[in-house]
Amino acid sequence: MTTDRATVSATTLDYPRIGPNRELKRVIEGFWAGRVSATDLDETTTRLRLDTLTELHQAGLDEVPTGTQSRYDHVLDTAVLLGAVPPRHVRAGEDPLDTYFAMARGRPEAPALEMTKWFGTNYHYLVPEIGPDTPIALRGDQPVRQYREAVELGIPGRPVLLGPVTFLLLSAAAADAPAGFDPLDRLDDVLAAYRELLGQLKAAGAGTVQLDEPSLVTDLSQAQLDAFTRAYAYLAESPARPELWVQTYYGFPAPAALGTLAGLPVHTVGLDFSGAAGEDLPAAVGEVGLRGKRLAAGLVDGRNVWRTDLRRALATATVLAGMAAEVVVTAGSPLLHVPVDLAVEDELPAELVRRLAFAKQKVAEVVAIARGLREGTPAIAEQLAASDLVHRTPVRQDTVLRARIAGLSEQDELRPAPAEERFVLQQKELGLPRLPTTTIGSFPQTGELRRARAGHRTGELSAADYHAVLRAEVDKVVALQEELDLDVLVHGEPERTDMVEYFAEKLAGFAVTKLGWVQSYGTRCARPPIVHGDVTRPEPMTVEYSAYAQSRTTRPVKGMLTGPVTLLQWAFVRIDQPRADTANQVALALRDEVADLEAAGLRVIQVDEPGLLEGVPLRAEHRADYLKWSVRSFRLATAGAKAATQVHTHVCYAELATVVEAVRELDVDVISIESARSGGAAEAVGALTSGVGPGVFDVHSPVVPEVAEQAAQLRRALRWLPAERVWVNPDCGLKTRGYAEVEPALRVMVEAARTVRAEI
Ligand code: GLN
Ligand code: ZN
Repeated sequence: MTTDRATVSATTLDYPRIGPNRELKRVIEGFWAGRVSATDLDETTTRLRLDTLTELHQAGLDEVPTGTQSRYDHVLDTAVLLGAVPPRHVRAGEDPLDTYFAMARGRPEAPALEMTKWFGTNYHYLVPEIGPDTPIALRGDQPVRQYREAVELGIPGRPVLLGPVTFLLLSAAAADAPAGFDPLDRLDDVLAAYRELLGQLKAAGAGTVQLDEPSLVTDLSQAQLDAFTRAYAYLAESPARPELWVQTYYGFPAPAALGTLAGLPVHTVGLDFSGAAGEDLPAAVGEVGLRGKRLAAGLVDGRNVWRTDLRRALATATVLAGMAAEVVVTAGSPLLHVPVDLAVEDELPAELVRRLAFAKQKVAEVVAIARGLREGTPAIAEQLAASDLVHRTPVRQDTVLRARIAGLSEQDELRPAPAEERFVLQQKELGLPRLPTTTIGSFPQTGELRRARAGHRTGELSAADYHAVLRAEVDKVVALQEELDLDVLVHGEPERTDMVEYFAEKLAGFAVTKLGWVQSYGTRCARPPIVHGDVTRPEPMTVEYSAYAQSRTTRPVKGMLTGPVTLLQWAFVRIDQPRADTANQVALALRDEVADLEAAGLRVIQVDEPGLLEGVPLRAEHRADYLKWSVRSFRLATAGAKAATQVHTHVCYAELATVVEAVRELDVDVISIESARSGGAAEAVGALTSGVGPGVFDVHSPVVPEVAEQAAQLRRALRWLPAERVWVNPDCGLKTRGYAEVEPALRVMVEAARTVRAEI
């Protein structure tokens, strides 16, 4: 099987920016701390870029992306490139790099740009602020300089830019913009700057420029779709420009958006064919037709760590090659979301390693698919054999677990009594005052704790000594909470570095990597665990410290678990079975943990689900299904609790209004939510039927709020909720704060609760 009708080449859309050993993080944080000079910062970032160019070229890519590195965030880079700097960040005569980092991190008098989730991923970008008067004009030449680096190395490069329409769709209206202003109103100014930039790239020798427009896979209005049409018609008219390549990812465009994309007067369109097994994506392309365009076919999934099924990918590629005169094989999305290199993971089991591919391995897959398409299967026989071995061997199943899941009934999703009855039973059991006070779980992670954990890891501190440090910490945290007069206490989570990693290390079916870092935002990286097999709980995970805390006080202590949806949301999850099935396996492990916590005397149990709202799909039509399975798995995890056991949950960054129905169906007794500050969230809170703790102070700010301020927050909650259902708590965990802030803030919180209690 060879394809001679189509011309075939290979490339990727980007490459991880952080470096094989998080060099970018180290050097930038060093620069912030004054340990690294601007020159050294420049040297290291340049070396990382050049190494990447060389590596990708040597790996066999025909064209290598340029300009995809960033010192903080590529959306911020684009804003700065266009000169769209908010007035509060401008300081006359300042070094542009300092202004750049001020926009990212804020200054005391000038808060940072807001940060938010980048599409459905765990990457976060900075939200540009655009108003009617925001200056917009080409202000930099970074893309040109970085393209030239490839030219100088003799490597065929392709500049990558964030597309102009997505840039504006991701921007927020500046605070002082008049009502009704939409950043998209500034499209003409942005396009003029892009046109100029394209001209410069052409002059530097660029043949093609990739413009990323992932917004095309979200729900768009006709006016928004028209903006794409207008934008690319204008850019295509430029007198001197490179060929234009419009790239989508993070899903497949809906029919209308796909039609718009196919109709753009551009040379190449890029689509992601790597996800959603079962949907016939090539057929959708066939329907709209490519009208003579080159197709960039994303065939290697850039958002997970699994080895590509090369035979399937090649079959898809072959179909696609029949539709376009030219096919570029790529990854289906940026590789930003996967760790750099699997080869350094020498502690993972061999049979798992065989199934994995990190960024470097994914590049090799892209090259192999292109080669297979060009030269036929014999040319990549070895790679196909390795892929077949993995993809034709099913993952070993846990028969006991499977039987248990098959035996589940709807009854298992139901608490033993309805909410009103539980409320009465729990009142009797716990005897809490009105407006009960509590926290979200974690207390500050002190330097001493971190040192003890590190010592335990290296073996310098024996297990017994580590244990003693943790117990002493729990003692301290419990005593502090009693002294503060909080009503429902926590153990403080001193044994956990991270609310997902801790459970990943305890659950069978999860693996934790050594160096599998991915960028979360700026210099922040996370190491998502890998869910690779059936998930079970070899032994209790949290009982020890929760039970210990309960033994130190007569007040109720909350057991603290991370929910099934969140454990998956912040991990790489197996794709050989529906995500819902994996979620149910995790749920049963947590269900057993809940039972063990009850048996150990815990009367309140919190199952955190900040990931539930975060995981809501981009497109509205996919939401119902997601919410259905995620709510079910949460209920499987919690419904086994006795009626008198009070089940709490906690969610952050609540875009609560859109999913309030689903949150109600979790059927918890109490929910605490971050940032009930905005009017919309407050209204949504009113639609909940459980106890509700709308966070009364922001744990992300070092400022200790006054009693009056917190009391006002509470009175606001009382406008939407009956007094017997209002709880008083901070809006998230306290682990990133210090005691110097936490203690007074909690003291004020308890005082505010007392004040408002006296009023009702
Ligand atoms: N229980 C966790 C904590 O307090 C919740 C963290 C979160 O919401 N992200 O740290
Ligand atoms: Zn939170």
